[in-house]
Amino acid sequence: MEIIKDIALMRTRCRERKLKGDKIGFVPTMGALHKGHLSLIKRAREDCDFTVVSIFVNPTQFGPEEDFKRYPRNLSEDLRLCEEEGVDVVFAPLKESMYPDGFSTWVEVKGMLTETLEGTFRPGHFKGVTTVLTKLFNIVLPDYSYFGEKDYQQAMVVKKMVQELNIDTEIILLPTVRERDGLACSSRNSYLSPEERKKAAVLYNSLLKAKQEVERGEKDPSIITSLIRHLIEKEGSFKIDYVAVVNPDTLEPVDRIRGKTLITIAAWIGGTRLIDNILI
Ligand code: AMP
Repeated sequence: MEIIKDIALMRTRCRERKLKGDKIGFVPTMGALHKGHLSLIKRAREDCDFTVVSIFVNPTQFGPEEDFKRYPRNLSEDLRLCEEEGVDVVFAPLKESMYPDGFSTWVEVKGMLTETLEGTFRPGHFKGVTTVLTKLFNIVLPDYSYFGEKDYQQAMVVKKMVQELNIDTEIILLPTVRERDGLACSSRNSYLSPEERKKAAVLYNSLLKAKQEVERGEKDPSIITSLIRHLIEKEGSFKIDYVAVVNPDTLEPVDRIRGKTLITIAAWIGGTRLIDNILI
């Protein structure tokens, strides 16, 4: 496995492989790798001839009050995991080379898709995501790029950007990997105290209960959001940012549940913000 920090060298490696006719699979991450990331890597390895994992804690997608400084970083363990998975290259550029002094170019998807849900609570977040991913796609030239459903809105925003900017990569969306009690794997779970960690399972459990209610015939989204809010609030120590029942293509709230629907939540437990969702 090769570890590359230099942007020009990364581009050269990928160009060489492309010229050979190899398919490039790309898994962009912020490191602190867990089973969720590994599922994306495994799938890239199955589909492609050459697998690139980027590890870059992207400063521009964090708000000024957010956790950029304390975000977990563990490059040596991440490299060990990537090696074990048979990754070809880990691309770990420096912040200064991705955003040199005077950097002033931004890629922004406007409208509902970036303004709703996460966009309401993390203004500027998606602009940071789409800007860094445009840079990474231009460097790695991936045929296939792998994303997790856990960040469903992010995947929708990226799909739209790729389509509208004619970026030549196919976005593959893969299911959320969970811990045994249902909590979605996340690098941020390491912030949780043992007590918070136990309580955090309520997020997915409330989504499962909501799904059951819909399957039993409940069509009213406000009944579903009230049920979820009630279950989460019963645990105590949560502060809910949103609970929403939306159209999975547009992310617009639905007034009646019919057909494919996304239920999505974001909540704080202590100083940790967690998100989760379920497609029904
Ligand atoms: P991150 O390192 O948090 O930026 O995530 C990198 C990629 O891994 C994104 O596409 C995420 O959606 C995906 N991911 C994060 N957590 C999970 C999970 N529990 N299951 C599947 N994919 C995930």
